[in-house]
Amino acid sequence: MIELTFLGGARTVTGSKHLLRTSRASVLLECGLFQGHREEANRRNRSLPIDAAAVDAVVLSHAHLDHSGALPVLVSHGYRGPIYATPATRDLCAPMLEDAASIQEADARHIARLIARGVDLDPVTPLYEHDDVVATLALMLGLPYHRRQTIAPGIALTFLDAGHVLGSAIVVLDIEDDGRHTRLAFTGDLGRPNMPILRDPEIPEGIECLITESTYGDRLHPPIVQSNDALAAAIARTVSRGGKIVIPTFALERAQEVILALGQLRARGAVPPCPVYVDSPLATKITDIFRLHPECYDREAFALLRDRSPFEFEGLRYVTDVEQSKAIDAFPEPAIVIAGSGMCEGGRVLHHLRAMIGDPRNTIAIVGFQAEHTLGRRIAERRHQVKIFGVMRELHAEVVVLEGFSAHADQAGLVAFAEAVRTRGRLRQILLVHGEPPAQVTLCTELGRRGFGAVSAPAQGEQVAIGGPRGS
Ligand SMILES: [Zn+2]
Repeated sequence: MIELTFLGGARTVTGSKHLLRTSRASVLLECGLFQGHREEANRRNRSLPIDAAAVDAVVLSHAHLDHSGALPVLVSHGYRGPIYATPATRDLCAPMLEDAASIQEADARHIARLIARGVDLDPVTPLYEHDDVVATLALMLGLPYHRRQTIAPGIALTFLDAGHVLGSAIVVLDIEDDGRHTRLAFTGDLGRPNMPILRDPEIPEGIECLITESTYGDRLHPPIVQSNDALAAAIARTVSRGGKIVIPTFALERAQEVILALGQLRARGAVPPCPVYVDSPLATKITDIFRLHPECYDREAFALLRDRSPFEFEGLRYVTDVEQSKAIDAFPEPAIVIAGSGMCEGGRVLHHLRAMIGDPRNTIAIVGFQAEHTLGRRIAERRHQVKIFGVMRELHAEVVVLEGFSAHADQAGLVAFAEAVRTRGRLRQILLVHGEPPAQVTLCTELGRRGFGAVSAPAQGEQVAIGGPRGS
């Protein structure tokens, strides 16, 4: 018996959790935070449908919270085994999970203040706290790329580069159970070739079962250079009407890529010289971790980062304290603000959006994927009204959506990856995860057209048997 149960990130893009079970072992792939409606997110994140103490090992593909953010919940439910990740992912998880805990605490305090003022809201308690994060980090083991490691009876793990964010890995598992041997690959989130800083995704060999993300299974990305130009044009328009630009970003990778892009646009005079604020202590910490892991860079980034920091340029300021953060909104001149969270579900970006969303001179630049039911998605869809801190506000600011910044493979990238895996292996089963149904249906059809037989998108909670015939 080799069986996968899809506990999260199934027909959706948040809360990734896949449980692999054999007759001898139980391994959890990812333990991500579910993001979306507050009540639903709360319910799903608190009730882990896993016997935490019975899991032998956890494997984490990368540090984004939709993959890692529920690890402290797992630990608070009694998990005491190892959590395998690349060394960069392990380091990134320290500030990422600490920040997630702080945001939850701050959010709970803020809601409590609103309730005290008479706003009709339910009180919230943080999902986890600082101590849970420390206990989680104590279980994390750094496993470098390409080093095979036995992680549970009959299960060996090898990480390959996924090219998605710093430290991101494709998870390759060699599974031996009851006379059967199966090699499985799980993409985690799959990157794109030729992106700044990172190497291109690697192709695993000898794979029989591929679990692949499908976020952009129905879309093709414009080249990143087009998005740089569109960002420059949006900045020029906004500055000419005296407005501000707010860019909600993931602190990991997207923030560094946007900073890099703004620095390059500034250097070639493509944008007016207005101040740029990185209003994310987390992005600042993560930028420091980038400097510690040159083993993850591509050749160009390695050369660039060795000489000077590409994350510094004239007019760029890293904001740390809250008073400085508030002063940005009171500042009457044009400015660019990069702040988290990436889907506008928490963090300092909410305060900037509250201040800027009602003024048509301002611009909100969306540079990352926005999951269903998030504030970021509603803004990207240009809803007339959106709720911020429990209060409905009119959306009058300009909204620009720049998909070229995506760190995810698009449809062509996902299909090319599956074809390369097929060429180098014995691929007979593809399972689509981490995608919304329209993207998955389109990708299924596209893969079917190219002769991939067994392609399916398991539902939440579904169990799927994997592996070849006995003795293969
Ligand atoms: Zn990711």
